[in-house]
Order: sequence, then C-alpha cells, then structure tokens
Amino acid sequence: MPRGRNTGLGIDWDFSSQEGLVSERGENLIHEVGMRCTCNNEDTYAGMMEKGGIVPRRRSTFGCTICRGDGYIYRNPNKITAIITSIRQSKDRVEAGWAMPGDCVMSLIPGYMVSGGDLVTFMNPMPLADGQVIVRGAGSADENSARKTGLKPEEDRLWYHAEKPIWCEDEDGKVYPNGTFRLDGSKIIHWLGGGPAVGKRYVLKYIAYHEWIAFTPPDVRFDRNRDLGSRVGLRKRHVAFLNEDPSLRVGECMPFSDRYKVC
Ligand SMILES: [Zn+2]
Repeated sequence: MPRGRNTGLGIDWDFSSQEGLVSERGENLIHEVGMRCTCNNEDTYAGMMEKGGIVPRRRSTFGCTICRGDGYIYRNPNKITAIITSIRQSKDRVEAGWAMPGDCVMSLIPGYMVSGGDLVTFMNPMPLADGQVIVRGAGSADENSARKTGLKPEEDRLWYHAEKPIWCEDEDGKVYPNGTFRLDGSKIIHWLGGGPAVGKRYVLKYIAYHEWIAFTPPDVRFDRNRDLGSRVGLRKRHVAFLNEDPSLRVGECMPFSDRYKVC
C-alpha cells in the first residue's frame, strides 16, 4: 500500500457505490434556496436609523408583497435525490441539543450543497402525523380581513400541499366526510357548504407533501481532500416557523403537481 494512503484496512471510499446508493435508495426531493426577504432586516447598525418613518426591524414586514410576510424567500427549485434518515438513528444529535424528535437528517451526494434556511419538499406524499387544527374562516376573520391572504371566505389555509384527507372532525365531535370539503393538491381546504361555523376549531388529518427547513450548518465531510457529501438537519416547516403568516404565496394556491413541473 502506498505511504499516506493507509486507511487502516486499506479500503478506499467507494464514490460510485455511494452515488448509486443515494440515487437508487434515496428520496426524490425539491430543494429551494432559502434566504431572508429584504423586509427582514436584522442589521443592528441599520436598526438605529429611521428613514421616512420606516424602521428596519427584526420581524418581517406586515403585508410584504415579496414574501407575503413570512420574512423568507425560496428560489431556484431543483429536483434532487438524497438519503433521509430519522433523527432516532442519530440520538447523539438530540442529546447534544441541536436536534429534536421529529427532525430528520439528509445525506447528499458529494458536491451538492444545501445550506441552513433552505426549503426541502418531499415528492412522495405522506400522512401529517398529528393532523392540523384549524379555526374555520380565520384567514378572513377580524384583523386578517385587512390582509391579502389569498383566501376566500369558504377557504382555510393548510400547512402543506394536501393530496387527500384521512379524517376531519370539529370541536363538537361532528365528523366531516370527504365531499363536504375538497382538497385539490394546493395548500387550501375548500368548504362546499355545511362545514364548521366560522370561528369553530376543527382538526384535519391529511396526506401531504411535507416541507422541511434545513436548520443546521451543513456537516461537510472530507476524506483526503475529497468531498464525501454533506449531512443536513431538517425540521418540519410548521415546527420551524410556528407563527408563519397566514397569507398564501402564488405557488401554494396551485396543486403540488403543477408546482413541481416548474422545477
Ligand atoms: Zn418580505
């Protein structure tokens, strides 16, 4: 064995089988580059200045026309394949305090970069574990009536593009079968009449295209100056952004199948 190439057992890293494993066994995903919207200004120096009554702020701007108030924008969608593992298999990360149950870890092929704040969407729909509790009509009630939420009075916003319902029930225990509402693959539930009264809470469990936010700096791995592919932590979007704005972006009003065609 040549000097300097000693890897213990003399076994070298097998890049072709690593790439093969990722492309054959990996998940199909859409990766979008995430970054702050220009309205989400955290510069402490700029924060001391006020121009024309506008104070740079730590929070996103109410009704921002670029990010719809979320404070983050997602650009350059790209279809990729990566290995996804549950955080349960990386218990040390939970114990170290930088991951929590429900997160997952994404292993990428060498040379592809995903960085903190990026958005990753699974292309295979899966059930939303706990379901989503929704207040009927919240998007157009009270103060939200002044917002441009993109929702009609008979519509409520969902966290994720919804493929089909599993169960829907309101706070009084009344069950709503599929047909009293419609899911069309977008992030909207359309009530067709006879739904819960405005202001009533209901829970909807549905099959959805899950979205994740990359939340840790990529864990770049090298072997003798060769990139072994990075590992990135992923957190469900509705957990990463607890108080996300109720407004819908253009891509969220369309079925998922139409959205990923543009990638
Ligand atoms: Zn903005």
